[in-house]
Amino acid sequence: MDAEQIRTAYLQLMTERGHSLIERASLVPRDDPTTLFTGSGMQPLLPYLLGEPHPAGTRLADVQPCVRAQDIEEVGDNRHTTFFEMLGNWSLGDYFKSQQIPMFWHFLVDVVGLDPERIYVSVFAGDDEHGIPRDEESAEIWTRLFAQAGISHETVDLITEEHGNEVGNQGARIAFYQDKNWWSRGGGPDAMLVGDPGGPDSEVFYYFPQVTHDTAYGRFPHQNSDGGQYLEIGNSVFMQYRRMPNEQTDGSPAEATFAELPNRNVDYGGGLERIAAAAMDSPDVFRISLLWPIVEELERLSGKSYDEQTHAMRIVTDHVRGAVFLAADGVTPSNKEAGYVMRRLLRRAIRFAAELGIENNVLTPLVDIVAGLYADAYPEVGDRRETITKVLQKEERAFRRTLNKGLRELRHIAKEQRPITGGDFFILNDTFGFPVELSTEEAQRQGLTLAEDWRAEFDARREEQRQRSQAATKLGVHD
Ligand code: ATP
Ligand code: MG
Ligand code: MG
Ligand code: MG
Repeated sequence: MDAEQIRTAYLQLMTERGHSLIERASLVPRDDPTTLFTGSGMQPLLPYLLGEPHPAGTRLADVQPCVRAQDIEEVGDNRHTTFFEMLGNWSLGDYFKSQQIPMFWHFLVDVVGLDPERIYVSVFAGDDEHGIPRDEESAEIWTRLFAQAGISHETVDLITEEHGNEVGNQGARIAFYQDKNWWSRGGGPDAMLVGDPGGPDSEVFYYFPQVTHDTAYGRFPHQNSDGGQYLEIGNSVFMQYRRMPNEQTDGSPAEATFAELPNRNVDYGGGLERIAAAAMDSPDVFRISLLWPIVEELERLSGKSYDEQTHAMRIVTDHVRGAVFLAADGVTPSNKEAGYVMRRLLRRAIRFAAELGIENNVLTPLVDIVAGLYADAYPEVGDRRETITKVLQKEERAFRRTLNKGLRELRHIAKEQRPITGGDFFILNDTFGFPVELSTEEAQRQGLTLAEDWRAEFDARREEQRQRSQAATKLGVHD
C-alpha cells in the first residue's frame, strides 16, 4: 500500500468500526491564543475529551494535517517533517483499551501488511509517587496479540527503563516506561493542570534491521534519533485520570492527586508518512509516494542526486510542502506568528535550494508537484493552486532581491574576524529579509562566533524600531 491507499484504508476501517468521520481543522486554530498551529488531531478535540458532548457522537476519526514548528530543527533526519498528516481516532467514553489496541494492530498487520515480528511497543510503568498503577492491562493485550501472531512468549519480555538499554535489541518487545508514556497537557503528572484529563500512553515502533548507523539511541526502547532502528509510528493515549485540586491551604506546594475520570477516552494518533514508510520497508519517510516526487523534481532542477544531497533536499521538500498547506489555509508570509513561521520555511527552503545550485524560481515547479499530489485528498490545495503559487512566488521574488546582498554582508563580517552581533542580525533581518533563525544558522555555517548578548541586542533594536514606527504612525508619517 502506498500513502494514499493507507489514508483511504484507515478511514474506511474507522467507518466500518462505527466512527463518524469529522472534518479536519484548519492548520491555524481560530479562537486559541495559546498555540500558532494545529499540531495533532487531538488538539481541536480537547473540549470533547474534557467532557463536552460531540455532535457527531462518541466514536470519531479523521486525518489531520499538522504543523509542528518545534520540530524544524529535526527536519533533515529520516523521520521528522514540520508538516505531516496524523491519522486519528477517538472514543469519548465509548470503547477503551481492549478494543483500541487490537484495532490498531489489525490496521497495521492485516490492512497495511506490516510484519508483526517488527512491531515493538511501550506502555506506562506507573507512578508510585502519585499512586497511578502500571498499565498492566495494555501490556497484557499486547502480549496476547504477539502470542496470537506466533511470536513466542520468550521474546515478549517486559522491561523497565533502568535496564532497557541492556536488554534492548535482545528480543524485548514490550517496554514499561515511566516518563515518556504519560500524556497530559503540560507534560508529566506533576505538570498537569488542575481539572485536566491525562493518562497512560502506549507507543508503537517499527524496527528497521537495515539501519546500520546505530547508536545507543538506536536501541529499543530508545527511539528518537536519526539513524535509530526503531521508528515511532503511532500511539494511543488512554485518558483515564483527572488532576484533582490541591488540598494544602497553607500555601505549600501540594502533592498532585488524581481521580478516575467518569468518561474513559481514547486518543489515537498515527503518523501517515511513517506508516507509509514502514509499509515500503523504508526507514526514510522521504521515500514515500507523497514525498518522493518532490525530491525527484529537486533532483531534476538541480542535476544532483538525493543520495549526495540528502539533508538539503529533505529540508526543501518538507518546507515547501508545509508552506503550500499553510497557504491553502489562508496564511501569508509576514513578520509575525503563523506568517512568520511560513516566511521562515520559505526563505530557508530558498536558501537550501541555492546550496543545491538552484538559483532561481524553485518554488513554482514544486508547488505544482505538491498540488498534484494532494489535490484529491485535499481539494482546497488543488482549487487554490493559483493563489498559492502567487503567494509563494511573491515571497521568493522578495527574498531573492536581497538574498545575495545579505550573504555578502555575512561574508564581510566573517572577513573582519569579529563576533557577529545583535545589531548585525537586526540589519540582516530588517534590510535583507533574513529571519533571525536563518541568519544564526548561516553565521554558524560561515564559522562566525555569535556575540554573547546578541539576542538581547537584537530584541532591543527590534523594540526600538517598533516604537519608532508606532510614533510615526501616530504622527501620520509614512515612509
Ligand atoms: P517523535 O517521538 O518521533 O518525535 P511524537 O511522540 O512527538 O513523535 P506524537 O505526538 O505521539 O509524536 O504524534 C503522533 C504520531 O505522529 C507519532 O507517533 C508519529 O508517527 C507522528 N509524528 C509526530 N511528529 C512527527 C513529525 N515531526 N513528522 C512526521 N511524523 C510525526
Ligand atoms: Mg516529537
Ligand atoms: Mg515520541
Ligand atoms: Mg508519541
